[in-house]
Amino acid sequence: MGQNLRPTNKNLDGVVPYDPKYLPARLMLSANENPGGLPTAVAGEVIVALSKVQMNRYPDPLANDLRDLIAQQYGLVRENVMVGNGGDELLFNIAFAWGGAGRTMLDCPPTFSVYAANARLCGTTVVNIDRKIEQVTGFCSNDRVASIALGSALGAFPVNEEAVLERVAQGDIDYLTICTPNNPTGDLSSVDFIERLLDATDALVVVDEAYGEFAPEGSSVVPLLAKHKNLAVLRTLSKAYSMAGVRLGYLLANPEVITELQKVRQPYSVDSLSQTVAKEVFKFLDLFEARTALLASECDRVFEALNAMDGVVAYPSAANYILFKLEEADAGVVWQKLYDAGVLVRDFSASPYTPNSLRVSMGIPEQNDAFLATLASILEEEKSNSELQG
Ligand code: PMP
Repeated sequence: MGQNLRPTNKNLDGVVPYDPKYLPARLMLSANENPGGLPTAVAGEVIVALSKVQMNRYPDPLANDLRDLIAQQYGLVRENVMVGNGGDELLFNIAFAWGGAGRTMLDCPPTFSVYAANARLCGTTVVNIDRKIEQVTGFCSNDRVASIALGSALGAFPVNEEAVLERVAQGDIDYLTICTPNNPTGDLSSVDFIERLLDATDALVVVDEAYGEFAPEGSSVVPLLAKHKNLAVLRTLSKAYSMAGVRLGYLLANPEVITELQKVRQPYSVDSLSQTVAKEVFKFLDLFEARTALLASECDRVFEALNAMDGVVAYPSAANYILFKLEEADAGVVWQKLYDAGVLVRDFSASPYTPNSLRVSMGIPEQNDAFLATLASILEEEKSNSELQG
């Protein structure tokens, strides 16, 4: 006794704790954060509001004032909104409420790995319908806008729409998540596809729009909430709204969905400080628009610049990051050399879906230029090394 420890729930067997290699660097371009802090006017209001928070008291367990502000923004009511300690907490709540032993979720890899990880923790069966891999030649930045006009998807890894529709028609899928723009590939799914999916199933369809603010106007599925009971849309203040450190995500859904999730959520997970900061942000959303637009246009510019480099294939993205594949150099080596030069990006080469690929988050133009110049010189160096060896 005392020398032994009972094993945990068998769902944890073999699980590797999430570690995105988030290391300090001069240029932090790995986590799709906003490169800047809150706009000055908002920051001033936040300081004043924070100074009034009573930290000896529990936060409002339902965060009702914040829910009201969020609801107003979308023409919805409080009962349509739930807030969480980052979108991540809400994704876990969904996995717990709609998943579990004997239940099934559908995943469309390559996508945000947290969906499958949560399912595994909850003992949920995962059915994979892989995204297609398209030829990337012929894409240009303007395709973002054109794709919306045509009502079609954008990107190099589109959801296999017909296969997903056929699979949900079998009737055993309990929930699924479509990430659009998709992390890490940047693909945008069409509103039309999501609507067909909602019509084809009673599964909970979670549409993860964590990067929705960077996508073209008209690409959000929020308007579909009015007609579809089985839709939940995830959004976050971590990206466009510069609040990754505060941890505030929210879900928009039918009141029946929110009520189920409230059975699961930890009552005080969104603390008073986060609620206070988020309320100020929601009063000033328009002050964030200029930076969001800059990051979206940087995404187009960096996409062109990467594709102009020898040995690099960049995939089109409707978000604030770009996945790119190295055709000759080893992605692990290049990741390390970038890091040694002070540039942190994210290495996706361990995934079989994205071999030899890295993802870079958009910074301000000077940061992106520094990244591009550093990458170009590393690739040059790698090329001459391999020529010497060859
Ligand atoms: N969804 C996607 C697709 C993401 O990339 C992230 C952040 N990595 C989240 C949800 C969760 O973000 P947060 O917990 O910071 O709100």
